[in-house]
Amino acid sequence: MDDIILLKQGEIILKGQNRRHFESQLMANIRRRLKPFGEFEIYCMQSTIYVEPRGDCDMDGALDAAGTVFGANSVLRAAACEKDKDAIVETAVEYLGDKLNAVKSFKVESKRADKRFPMGSIELSRYVGGLLHERFPHLTPDMHSPELTVNVEIRDLAAYVHGPALPGAGGLPIGAGGRMVTLLSGGIDSPVATHMIAKRGVKVIPVHFASPPYTSEMAKDKVMTLTKILTKYCGRMVVELVPFTHIQEEIRAHSPEGFFTIVMRRLMMRIAEQIAINNGCTALVTGENLGQVASQTAEALAVTEECVNIPILRPLVAFDKQEIIERARLIGTFETSILPYEDCCTVFTPRRPRTKPRIEDVLEAESGLDITALVEEAVAGIERVAVEV
Ligand code: ATP
Ligand code: MG
Repeated sequence: MDDIILLKQGEIILKGQNRRHFESQLMANIRRRLKPFGEFEIYCMQSTIYVEPRGDCDMDGALDAAGTVFGANSVLRAAACEKDKDAIVETAVEYLGDKLNAVKSFKVESKRADKRFPMGSIELSRYVGGLLHERFPHLTPDMHSPELTVNVEIRDLAAYVHGPALPGAGGLPIGAGGRMVTLLSGGIDSPVATHMIAKRGVKVIPVHFASPPYTSEMAKDKVMTLTKILTKYCGRMVVELVPFTHIQEEIRAHSPEGFFTIVMRRLMMRIAEQIAINNGCTALVTGENLGQVASQTAEALAVTEECVNIPILRPLVAFDKQEIIERARLIGTFETSILPYEDCCTVFTPRRPRTKPRIEDVLEAESGLDITALVEEAVAGIERVAVEV
């Protein structure tokens, strides 16, 4: 019997003129993600992506991977058969027999996308349901809350029989939303922010600022581990590691203590903007949140972004910490994020940071720094590390 994986498109179906573009991006992403599991033929019809194995494939692995590809709302494994009512019954017995034996109630639900099929969907459900009931007499037909729904879909090329669908990753296919730079620390928030933006179809380029010897090799490894976890959703990424020590020492030497953090954050944004320009990115992404720490008051956020001309997206701005933690657990980054580490943000932390910085004062606090030279030097020293899926 032929096994096949079907992915049902999510929001893509709402796209008008661009729909083809989104569909081909989604198919390209699925093709790339499923490569390790064998050779597949992938095509799209009637808002569904078909993944047909060619030869020996790891179908369980492929199904798992398909569930992490943004752009599909549900994924399922189905058995394909001839578009014939009795072939459908035999396929259901063979493919879902174990499941039918394990439950007490069931129903059959049919969809007839191919209108040339001689039976209507209700008629087909009744026919298949009747014969399945004869084969599995312990079952009670239950149209309202059955333990198992046997789905039958009559499509262009074949009929498909399957059990319940699994939730897909949702969102839009990566690449359809262009590219952005994401500022990735080792904390809880930025991996969650990165995942959320990638889910909107964005190819992300992670940037991490490291200040050795104030921050350790372990802190850097942690960011690489977080990136590795995120590749499950985002695909292969190249992390840009920015040397930040000299900048922080310059700030400590030339800026008043209360402004250390805000001046440092403005340098991060300027460097990230430069990386964005060099990589054709349209925005910066951070894990900043309103009110979480001193540098995240509305006034501080405004001053942080005053020095760049590129939008800064902050998907977590209105989330409670608890909500962020729940998301971090779901995507699998939480356990890594809570490992102890030093971030450059916690190096030279002022005793009393300014929570409502005024731009005039910040410009004054920066006046002793050669900003252009510092940004150039940092960008020139970037180390790029590829992280494979
Ligand atoms: P996170 O949990 O993501 O570290 P946070 O609540 O600790 O966030 P901050 O430390 O003030 O807040 O950092 C705010 C944002 O700035 C982070 O979410 C991240 O996007 C960015 N950021 C902070 N430190 C770094 C770093 N070392 N490298 C890259 N980006 C950073
Ligand atoms: Mg942090």
